[in-house]
Amino acid sequence: METVYDVIIIGGGPAGLSAGLYVSRARLSALLIEKGIFGGQIANTEHVENYPGFPDGISGYELGQLMYQQAEKYGLEMVAAEVTGLEFNERGKVVETSEGEFVARAVIIAGGAQPNRLGVPGEEEFLGKGVSYCATCDGAFFREQVVAVVGGGDSAVEEAMLLTRFASKVILIHRRNQLRASRLHQERAFANPKIEFIWDTVVEEITGPDKVRGLTVRNVRTGVISTVEVSGVFLYVGLHPETDYLRGLLTLDEERRIPTTQGMETEIPGIFAAGDIRKNSPRQAITAAGEGATAALSAEKYLMEQQ
Ligand code: NAP
Repeated sequence: METVYDVIIIGGGPAGLSAGLYVSRARLSALLIEKGIFGGQIANTEHVENYPGFPDGISGYELGQLMYQQAEKYGLEMVAAEVTGLEFNERGKVVETSEGEFVARAVIIAGGAQPNRLGVPGEEEFLGKGVSYCATCDGAFFREQVVAVVGGGDSAVEEAMLLTRFASKVILIHRRNQLRASRLHQERAFANPKIEFIWDTVVEEITGPDKVRGLTVRNVRTGVISTVEVSGVFLYVGLHPETDYLRGLLTLDEERRIPTTQGMETEIPGIFAAGDIRKNSPRQAITAAGEGATAALSAEKYLMEQQ
């Protein structure tokens, strides 16, 4: 007979793993599906300083692993697979994946968000040859070299700070003249002598020929085009949710995120969403964890009402 889980959780970041912890402790049968490594975005963060309980901070990778271990301890099942579809039929809520189909009575969608591409010539061509979306993973390749960071949000500024540990200079290129990042991040970046800022500027092209050697940039105020010599460029121009497989099933907002109630319920009974994939989520690890726990409590209530 086919296994029908009480709950399937899509995504193994703070939202999914917290949901997994709560449903497992509620003694519901649950399966968590994750295509990459546990921890989601924070797994690629060198040092997490704003997750309560770790006054000295903690490596993002380690935090993800600890969340995973805690959920597993209470019986959460996990499978490594990519979700490709979701369907509702007489079998239940059917999650289609690269490893086959899994069926549940309730689903918590916590697939998080992926880094945006900048969409300029050279970006695809030099991926892994100087173009990166992960300073934690690739920063050490640029010892005593000049690198650029593109973006002005928390990710760009935080990762620029990290890169100063390796690079001789970090040039932060932002399309406006004001950072979007939090005050604390800004203060630290402005105080760091290794970080240089190029304001009001966008990258038009990443140039080689064999690997990244420079950038063609344009000042958006003056229109002046110039070149910047760098050996690497780290792109932090926001994140997008992976919700293509939900098109036609759930109404998404203009950013393709999932609207929910305060209880993390979507418009379809028994389908919940939590974390960065959710409309209006504050997009922090701690809020994602809270949303995951809330979704789990709502799923538990939903299942009880179904009985
Ligand atoms: P974000 O806050 O959306 O910032 C994206 C940055 O990229 C913005 O500065 C934006 O410029 C710029 N940008 C977007 N599209 C661009 C383009 N086509 N060309 C040039 N620049 C472009 O993304 P994020 O920094 O990845 O942060 C995502 C969420 O995670 C946020 O809520 C953030 O607070 C959170 N986060 C928190 C921490 C932390 O607390 N330690 C660390 C990392 C991330 P504009 O400013 O002009 O829009």
